[in-house]
Amino acid sequence: MLNKGLPEKDLFLFFAQKKGEDLDHDYILSSMCTPPHPVAVRAHCMFIETNLGDPGLFLGTASLEKLLIERLGTLFHHPTAGGYATSGGTESNIQALRLAKEQKKEIPAPNVVVPESAHFSFKKACDILSLEMRTVPLDSTLKMDAAKAAEIVDKNTICLVGVAGTTEYGLIDPISELAAIASERDIFFHVDAAFGGMVIPFLDHTIPFDFSLPGVTSIAVDPHKMGMGTIPCGCLLTRQPDMLTSLNIDTPYLSVKQEYTLAGTRPGAPVAGALAVLDYLGVEGMQAVVAGCMKNTWRLVDGMETYGIPRAVTPDLNVATFICKDVPDRWKVSWTRRGHLRIVCMPHVHRDRIEAFLEDIGELYA
Ligand SMILES: *Cc1c(COP(=O)(O)O)cnc(C)c1O
Repeated sequence: MLNKGLPEKDLFLFFAQKKGEDLDHDYILSSMCTPPHPVAVRAHCMFIETNLGDPGLFLGTASLEKLLIERLGTLFHHPTAGGYATSGGTESNIQALRLAKEQKKEIPAPNVVVPESAHFSFKKACDILSLEMRTVPLDSTLKMDAAKAAEIVDKNTICLVGVAGTTEYGLIDPISELAAIASERDIFFHVDAAFGGMVIPFLDHTIPFDFSLPGVTSIAVDPHKMGMGTIPCGCLLTRQPDMLTSLNIDTPYLSVKQEYTLAGTRPGAPVAGALAVLDYLGVEGMQAVVAGCMKNTWRLVDGMETYGIPRAVTPDLNVATFICKDVPDRWKVSWTRRGHLRIVCMPHVHRDRIEAFLEDIGELYA
């Protein structure tokens, strides 16, 4: 630490310089995060000092968290769902597996069955919770093979996981089939909709992935991705309103006697931010945002294919992937484990950015 503090002016000159070293969003095509919506920023700043880890002190903020869960539960066809705001998909997935483990405490060597395409957070979760992680191969369309999942599940399986919007390809696993398998065998079924949960409900066609399917036990969704909220905000939802209380531990010295969250101190600001976006835009506003992202995704796919660069898969959501070797340096793209070019058409990736990218690609490949 500095012995003597800095003048504010110097401090913020330094910060401005560091901020300038961050990449410009105009060229970021690889991220599932996006600059927050202005109403999220305003709400976030308004609740900046709040701590949901001590909800008895922040009654209003705590009621906003309840409202956020209620909004998402309703969106996912189950208004009475339980849940809370996490730091993101990773925490939601860890907590879902904790919940699943808690329901089947008698199983001595528990395993979790996830698709090969599952987010790496499941590795962390299984490591922390000492669970065996079994991966199900993907079918030719790079979605989880439900028939193979049914073979891999056994009497020691405490949780089956399906992904609604895979991180790498934006694909939706056959959630209805997986839910049926889980129902039939009485297995906890967690849907990781960290990305897709804020996209699928707003598409112009219906894809069942949520509590409308009786086998779905819990859902992870990240308002800090397509929800255009401020970072960090994920949510974990459970069908059973009070399931999370099975994780309760005693909390001396706080305003509440028990808690089931993973983190102790928890920010209320991003919760307000996430709710602000949902209530400001409403379903119609979200549909417009998603429609724009999908339109840009298809324009990108069409444009790339005009240059002879084929899609790797046909996108379900606003993630476009290609069989392509290289792109000009200034564009920040990413590459999947299978070596495909991956571009996420987030709200900040406007049509003019897609056209500028295609123009650059054209110079390389046309
Ligand atoms: C982003 C993502 C996660 C992890 O979420 P974080 O907010 O980065 O912790 C988990 N699952 C899926 C499908 C994701 O896209």
